Amino acid sequence: MSSPDSSSGILVLGGGPAGMAAAFELSRAGKRVTVVEREESVGGLAKTLVIHCPEGTYRTDIGPHRFFSKNRYLYEMIEDLLGERWIAVPRHTRFYVNEKFYFYPVRLRNVIGQLGFIQSFRVVRDFLYEKVRSVLKPRKVASFGDYAISNFGRTLAEFNMINYTEKIWGLPVDQISVDWASQRIAGLSPWATLKKMIWKQGGPKTLVDSFHYPDHGSGLIYERMRERVESAGGIVLTRTEPTALEWKDRRITRVFLKNEEGVKIFEPEAVVSSIPMTHAVTLFAPQAPAHVMEAANSLKFRAQVYLFLTADRDHVTHDNWIYFPNKEIPFGRIAEMKNFSNRMVPDGKTSLFIEFFCFEGDDIWRKSADDLFRLTIQWLEKLKFLKREEVLSFHHFRQPHVYPLYDLTYSDRVSEVITWMDAFENFHAIGRPGRFRYTNQDHSLEMGILAAKNVLAGRRIHDIGAVGSGSEYFEKGYIPSRA
Ligand SMILES: Cc1cc2nc3c(=O)[nH]c(=O)nc-3n(C[C@H](O)[C@H](O)[C@H](O)COP(=O)(O)OP(=O)(O)OC[C@H]3O[C@@H](n4cnc5c(N)ncnc54)[C@H](O)[C@@H]3O)c2cc1C
Repeated sequence: MSSPDSSSGILVLGGGPAGMAAAFELSRAGKRVTVVEREESVGGLAKTLVIHCPEGTYRTDIGPHRFFSKNRYLYEMIEDLLGERWIAVPRHTRFYVNEKFYFYPVRLRNVIGQLGFIQSFRVVRDFLYEKVRSVLKPRKVASFGDYAISNFGRTLAEFNMINYTEKIWGLPVDQISVDWASQRIAGLSPWATLKKMIWKQGGPKTLVDSFHYPDHGSGLIYERMRERVESAGGIVLTRTEPTALEWKDRRITRVFLKNEEGVKIFEPEAVVSSIPMTHAVTLFAPQAPAHVMEAANSLKFRAQVYLFLTADRDHVTHDNWIYFPNKEIPFGRIAEMKNFSNRMVPDGKTSLFIEFFCFEGDDIWRKSADDLFRLTIQWLEKLKFLKREEVLSFHHFRQPHVYPLYDLTYSDRVSEVITWMDAFENFHAIGRPGRFRYTNQDHSLEMGILAAKNVLAGRRIHDIGAVGSGSEYFEKGYIPSRA
């Protein structure tokens, strides 16, 4: 065991967007930073995987990562990191329901043509019923299901919202917190969608027709941050994990890190942590109080399994991604990375990234690559996307901590843990797993930047918990003029 490294400066646990933004901001301010990342590369859920095949190199995000934000500072930061490698990409998205494809943003002729008169009538009737009911006898909104039905009407809610949400979470919608709606779809309404369909302008920003993307995948942002941190003298330790956070008088005094070279002890000035909160709390020594441990133990993450296929085809679709809400289809979303940037695949080839939602250890989680491929290819053939013989190779990945599970009682249990952790004067919990909060890249980046500012100020001048807490549609954002 090594002796304490007293000049260790600030320790950032987790090298995802939140952790890398904190490290980047701190090193820009001249602080000595060490990032501790369990995996081989940085970027967390927003990293880009690189797959070398005989015909060339493929790149894929872990599920496509479109950047959107209301915060100009973030756009300027990424522009500075990527320059010309941040390209504008036209948006093509569809969803597949009851054996038909629908464009998203929805197009009037496509919807009416596909839905038919009777179903379209039901959509309008149920929506108007809920509007009248909201005045005469408002529905009690206790869950995501109540929210979706009262805002969209039962037919529209059941058409693609309720089944897709249940697929993501693995829970019935009446057991999913309404918080998921406020972070995911608040601000989105049939009126806004209709406005966009008719006038092609206005409506929520989710319906924008183009977005920015790094030409080598979203992970390029975080690789560039790593380069900047390292060139400023910072250290990024990959394949390394913390094993204990010793504390006294509400200050972290020593952190034990472990990797294949052995154990290293740090005496950090401050710790910024974006590793799963449920794990971080178990590392505190002395141990957190029993009620905090109990609350943390009862929180769960939804996991994902992925299948990545390379194909001897120029294109499979023209979509960035396609949603599959129907439950008989085992996957939830397919992305064709070439439609983000043609630098993601070798010339003349393409790839598909297929997402499955599951719990760690369940049947889908345990499936072998061969089984997952067999399960998937029959659907790809049925959808007329790809023939078995066109597949060049398939690759299989798993991620355990993807969606913090927003069940009906999660919020009190999260507060119990966060309140205890936030009372440490030199410990800053940030990010999606770090605060058990459904964030996209923008809010994780903001949390990292604000935590860095708090560390630099020596006190909590910014409230990390307030980032992204506004009830508005989560994809709403500022789009730079060159988009
Ligand atoms: C399928 C999918 C699609 C998405 N699409 C979009 C999108 O289009 N746009 C968008 O903005 N966002 C998108 N997101 C969300 C985005 O990926 C997250 O918001 C972002 O990655 C969160 O960053 P974070 O740093 O908070 O957490 P994470 O990315 O989870 O990073 C946490 C880091 O901590 C590391 N870690 C964990 N445990 C330990 C440990 N014990 N020791 C050391 N390190 C550890 C992890 O390896 C990881 O690198 C998507 C996410 C998924 C899963």
